[in-house]
Amino acid sequence: MGLLDIVPSGVITGDNVKKLFDYAQEHKFAIPAINCTTSSTVNAALEAARDQKSPLIIQFSNGGAAFYAGKGIDNKDQHASILGSIAGAYHVRAVAKHYGVPVVLHSDHCAKELLPWLDGMLAADEVYFKEHGEPLFSSHMIDLSADPKEYNIATTKKYFERCAPMKLWLEMEIGITGGEEDGVNNESADKDALYTPSEDVYEVYEALSPIAPYFSIAAAFGNVHGVYKPGNVVLRPELLEQHQKFVKDKISGDSEHPLYLVFHGGSGSSAEEIQTAVNNGVVKMNVDTDTQFAYLAGVRDFVLEHQDRLMKQIGDLSKGEGDSTPNKKYYDPRNWIRHGEKTMYKRVQQANSDLGNAGTL
Ligand SMILES: [Zn+2]
Repeated sequence: MGLLDIVPSGVITGDNVKKLFDYAQEHKFAIPAINCTTSSTVNAALEAARDQKSPLIIQFSNGGAAFYAGKGIDNKDQHASILGSIAGAYHVRAVAKHYGVPVVLHSDHCAKELLPWLDGMLAADEVYFKEHGEPLFSSHMIDLSADPKEYNIATTKKYFERCAPMKLWLEMEIGITGGEEDGVNNESADKDALYTPSEDVYEVYEALSPIAPYFSIAAAFGNVHGVYKPGNVVLRPELLEQHQKFVKDKISGDSEHPLYLVFHGGSGSSAEEIQTAVNNGVVKMNVDTDTQFAYLAGVRDFVLEHQDRLMKQIGDLSKGEGDSTPNKKYYDPRNWIRHGEKTMYKRVQQANSDLGNAGTL
């Protein structure tokens, strides 16, 4: 029995998201969450998932969403980020089922100063819910990890109470992901804060689990956004097993993995680190930095290879001044952008393979 016997294709929400994550934990795999900024990157990720028969998480960051709307739109009061995430959500909803894979539609890190963005998306979820009986998005992330723990948990709880009637999933972060992403810079964070203690993880569980089961925790285990030279911070995915056991003992539960965990800053991790994280109940790993680089590679190589045809609309420079063959088929964006999609496609499939997600439908 594969995943498509349990959940439908297209954007899934509510209990279907829970079924997907339960199935992933049971079969010891995780789903990559691919950060997308355009319809082109969304389509590349969907195509990769389709051809590998795997579920997919598509997510928009705050800056990625603003880009989706267009850099020409002012982002005052999160206007562009709200618009762009909604535009991206409708694009994904329109095409996802035609790729035949289940898709979790998610929004990435939302820090305190970005909460109006989350409010705007939740308002769109509520409107969509009234008409369709499910929210527009499958899930959102709230990330108040840079604020005091009490504020983080209390505010997350307040948002989760708003999500719960729609069975909207909420991912939260406790402890800090190092490095730099989407304008948030934690490069100088205290090293201890990069490893969340089990007690803190339990506090989150205690606050959220009476409301609904639809939440996941990004607990820090030395994760760093971006790709750096190895050696500075040590990734310790074995800590996640301690969190699972701590919570299991506290609640005297039967499940070995009472927590749905999320792996941030996964770019550049070894296969062994990823495997340990997945074995310890990680169901989602974020992939952004590596797919950014992969997308560039296809465009870059195409431009470098065909530069003699890309300088003018007519004529190949390598054939001399007299050449008058048209270059339209080279500079048409459907050609050079497609090369970026193809190299991103390969990197998404690599993430799928690393996480054991390939062939799970
Ligand atoms: Zn992250």
